[in-house]
Amino acid sequence: KSFQSMKLPKPVLNALKKKGILKPSPIQMQGIPTILTGRDIIGIAYTGSGKTLVFSLPILMFCMEQEKRMPFVRNEGPYGLIVCPSRELARQTNDFLQFMFTQCSQEGMPSLRSMLCIGGQPVKEQLDVVKRGVHIMIATPGRLMDMLNKKMLNLDVCRYLCLDEADRMIDMGFEEDVRTIFSYFKGQRQTLLFSATMPKKIQNFARSALVRPVTINV
Ligand code: AMP
Repeated sequence: KSFQSMKLPKPVLNALKKKGILKPSPIQMQGIPTILTGRDIIGIAYTGSGKTLVFSLPILMFCMEQEKRMPFVRNEGPYGLIVCPSRELARQTNDFLQFMFTQCSQEGMPSLRSMLCIGGQPVKEQLDVVKRGVHIMIATPGRLMDMLNKKMLNLDVCRYLCLDEADRMIDMGFEEDVRTIFSYFKGQRQTLLFSATMPKKIQNFARSALVRPVTINV
């Protein structure tokens, strides 16, 4: 399977090429088409497997389609929420998305916005971005809970929830927070859970939070 056969738009393929990403990794071959069919997934994957693209590309494509149909006005979104255990991981994912957005908009695709919702930065600045409208939010649990509890953010139109490095999040004691984040979702949600390991705790969590997930273990 190639990226071309996954029906990725040409500007997306060109942007990947600029990063030297030409041929999908095993988790990408299985994961991207499965997510595009609308199924929940459990991806058992380490850093270095290429998991970032697996969840980023389908969410990005959804946002592009939505933005073409109905451009954002103020205070809309996010359509996708990516929750990570660390600020560093959140930054890496945001950097990748921003690179893709810039490249794609230069080739005539709609302009998209992503933002970080992480601790260590002023809430006010993050709130200003939310108010302008944001397609994809990449968050750590603490700051995200803060914004949700204070009603600074709503997830009414949020279509994708991705949990990256879920085992680390559970180990760090974020299980309750993650469950609370789930409870803020209103509409139809597709859940993408990535974890390097699959201890009982994560299996039980996934069973209660995901709908008929497809497990991808490469
Ligand atoms: P990840 O596992 O998502 O953290 O990705 C690890 C690194 O591999 C990142 O620097 C990606 O840019 C790179 N990468 C991801 N997918 C591919 C691919 N299919 N071919 C070459 N490099 C890739």
